[in-house]
Amino acid sequence: EKFRDGLTKTRTAFSGKMNDLFARYRKIDEDFFEELEDILISADVGVNTVMELIDELKMEVRRRNIQDPREVQDVISEKLVEIYEKGEENLAALNIQQEGLTVLLFVGVNGVGKTTTIGKIANQFKQQGKKVVMAAGDTFRAGAIEQLEVWGERVDVDVVKQAAGSDPAAVMFDAIQAAKARGADILLCDTAGRLQNKVNLMKELEKVKRVIEREVPNAPHEVLLVLDATTGQNALSQAKTFSEATNVSGIVLTKLDGTAKGGIVIAIRNELGLPVKFIGLGEKVDDLQTFNTEQYIYGLFA
Ligand code: GDP
Repeated sequence: EKFRDGLTKTRTAFSGKMNDLFARYRKIDEDFFEELEDILISADVGVNTVMELIDELKMEVRRRNIQDPREVQDVISEKLVEIYEKGEENLAALNIQQEGLTVLLFVGVNGVGKTTTIGKIANQFKQQGKKVVMAAGDTFRAGAIEQLEVWGERVDVDVVKQAAGSDPAAVMFDAIQAAKARGADILLCDTAGRLQNKVNLMKELEKVKRVIEREVPNAPHEVLLVLDATTGQNALSQAKTFSEATNVSGIVLTKLDGTAKGGIVIAIRNELGLPVKFIGLGEKVDDLQTFNTEQYIYGLFA
């Protein structure tokens, strides 16, 4: 239900245009494919990905001798799933240690929903019976530490912090010691996101990461880049910037409830190779879901 509601804007825009297209065409020709191309691009599927999809569709339509435009819809879904999965399974699974501390590092620019996402994920782990600690590593943005503390109270999870303006790497060091001392299973690390000074931000992230690597074997176990779906192609360029600077292992795509351009999920995966791990569908604590490829892609049309 929540998933359906959260995707209403994308689904309505997408399926509305698709149905209109299928209703107007009696046969499948070049014009049909061109219109289809425009619809997919307007949903932010990404130009390269759309070209790839259209080529595959044309081949499949010929191969199966499909005549009726309405039959193309299923082929689109199938091909999108293939393009997304690339033969891999469980793309949204997190690298969680069975024993000892798992460290998840969250990166992304201000305002994308990083703090909110960390709060929501803390709650999910807590509900699974795990002991969670959060590290207030955004010491730069005014109010970021307090905001994480509000989430800490809301979901009843400890927050390790220092004064505003202090060294984020020192916060991480403290947080790791605290998490170990308390026998925590999961440490969720917030980080700063000021992109105005890209070089400094990336240096800071490197330093934070080095502390984590030194203090916990094989950590960070995930580096999750949080992106705001409503920013469209801008999200894609943020993903490029961050993945050049650090080993991003997956994406959290927030605010899908606020956009009709949910095709960005496919562009991120196909153009950057990064899997979407979670999708944000609202501001409340339960409005975050593990990404499910088939549910998502078939949900665009249903
Ligand atoms: P940060 O600067 O990256 O830490 O961003 P915040 O966590 O402060 O979030 C910025 C705003 O986005 C807040 O008003 C959040 O409530 C809102 N937000 C976060 N995730 C979602 C989402 O999935 N959907 C919607 N509609 N709003 C969200």
